[in-house]
Amino acid sequence: MIAEVAFDAPVDHPFSYRVPAGWAPAPGQRVLAPLAGARRVGIVLALREGDETALKPLLAVAEPGPRLDAAALDLARWIAAESLSSVGSTCAALLPPVEQGTRTRAVAPVDRPDDPLPTARHATRVATTQATIGDGGIELLIGAGRERRLLERIAGTGSALVIVPDVESAGRWAQRLGKERPARRLDSGVDDDIRGDAWRRLGVEGGVGVGTRSALLAPLPPGAPLVLVDEHDVAHKPPGPPRIHSRDVVLERAARERRPAFLTAATPSVELWWRATERGGVTMAPPAAGPWPPVTISDTRGILRREPLTPPLARAVRETLAAGRRALLLVSRLASSLACDECGEITRCPQCALALVYTRAAATLSCRLCAITVPLMDTCPSCRGRRLSPFGWGLERVEHAVRRRFPRARVARWDPDASRGARGEAQRAGAAAAEIVVGTRGALRLFGPASLGLAGFVSPDQLLRLPDFRAGERMFGLVWAAAERVGAEGSLVIQSQNPTHYAVEAVARQDLAAFYRSELKFRAELGYPPFRRLALVRVRVRGTTEVQGLADAVTAALRASARLTVYPPVAERREHARRIVVKGHGDLPAALAAALADFRGPRPRRRGIIDAEVDPVEWPS
Ligand SMILES: [Zn+2]
Ligand SMILES: [Zn+2]
Repeated sequence: MIAEVAFDAPVDHPFSYRVPAGWAPAPGQRVLAPLAGARRVGIVLALREGDETALKPLLAVAEPGPRLDAAALDLARWIAAESLSSVGSTCAALLPPVEQGTRTRAVAPVDRPDDPLPTARHATRVATTQATIGDGGIELLIGAGRERRLLERIAGTGSALVIVPDVESAGRWAQRLGKERPARRLDSGVDDDIRGDAWRRLGVEGGVGVGTRSALLAPLPPGAPLVLVDEHDVAHKPPGPPRIHSRDVVLERAARERRPAFLTAATPSVELWWRATERGGVTMAPPAAGPWPPVTISDTRGILRREPLTPPLARAVRETLAAGRRALLLVSRLASSLACDECGEITRCPQCALALVYTRAAATLSCRLCAITVPLMDTCPSCRGRRLSPFGWGLERVEHAVRRRFPRARVARWDPDASRGARGEAQRAGAAAAEIVVGTRGALRLFGPASLGLAGFVSPDQLLRLPDFRAGERMFGLVWAAAERVGAEGSLVIQSQNPTHYAVEAVARQDLAAFYRSELKFRAELGYPPFRRLALVRVRVRGTTEVQGLADAVTAALRASARLTVYPPVAERREHARRIVVKGHGDLPAALAAALADFRGPRPRRRGIIDAEVDPVEWPS
């Protein structure tokens, strides 16, 4: 017997091993096998008969039975193909770690009859209790009270798999769902053995499983719903293989297994909104209006700003402190592009509408998509004004100004993405106790719905200036999330050079649909998702001439495909790296894989690292 084993490595093909006599590993089960002189954990993809005399034997089985059944293994293959990842890396990322104790066991126990893993018999028994849920159906829950409605939807179901963006939310949701019935945690916030046991029991006994994206393949009784909380959160597509959004996996799994799926979002991704309103396949009730703060837009065009706080924002802070409530001032990271201080116009690429990236040393502006470079202009193309600047406010400058202005207030700065560990914890505690928090978008997580007296945006234009076609969606999501955290009696102040931008206006009117109407029009006109799919292909190799040569060769190979629109290679910030943007259709992953086959196979045509990300959610600038 020969076992085909895949490892956590960027290699597409599995490796063949001899199965020692008397062993009975199953597809979906993890084993230990020798690879490049080391003992490595891999997953059995298939078993076959054949000439095994020249093959090395498996060393041990790493767990008592398969973690994935045939359907889950097939879903893992789909995920790998969609994200151009290897099946081995996909399984490594989407399975609980191999439990301690079994890992070091060299002698393999054969398949035990009392194996506590899911079986067809169990599954059928649970299925009969699930009959009321019905077949498939995807629902997007938006607006006020969406989480309460979600809980109502799944209250009558014995089982559900709830995927949340991060470990912190997993703890919170497990507590919330655990009031009715035990909720099993499948994320890294609990010990490995608890997590492994939860995975196993979910398939056999049913119940509610809560986890992050590493739980996407967890077993679940037939008919039980899949849930994705905060669908719009970028944390649902973390770095590392398989680079795929949890939303895409949930929708695919629901369709394959004919399960209902519920997704919640404050501001759904443009892709999902489009499915719910135009393309079909997703139902959505109109958003329920909740309490909404009055929104003040402070127009900062033409104002020479020596202070980060304009009078309306400073006044709002003062009133909030006087009322004994808390204020959050949001600062965005500095963008590397230019805008006109007179009229607010952002210098954009004429073809792609992306903000052009300003390079001070070369005094040029360039497009991160089509690679055109234009010399720096000295007047604004829109108003002929002479104040074009890469202006922005950093976190520390804002904090300093706030302390000077409100010397008696407790002020704290918090940027959860910049400080981790003990320092991050101390900063978080400081922020939790402060009257005024100066923070980045991650700081919003500190506050529950309607818990703030004031949310103030110092200059959200910095978000619009990002060289990313999602800049508008990003800004809209952030301002909307802030508004939800301010009570009706609080206030939201937006200082902006783009006060008439549709994202700002949609938040001011609490009108979700207004934003997506404008955004979808823009996306359709320029051929951005959801109308086309995009991918970033990165090429890395030591040496400047080598990297350019390899980038040219890859570009030529991609251009040979009639299914792809290929932009010229652009130098990355890191040396020895180039980025190529590719536009395609629904079959983009397959077309990319075919075009790159010569470079990514077991014997690549040239030296270098080529890595492709399909449907990127965050663009590196
Ligand atoms: Zn201007
Ligand atoms: Zn361009």
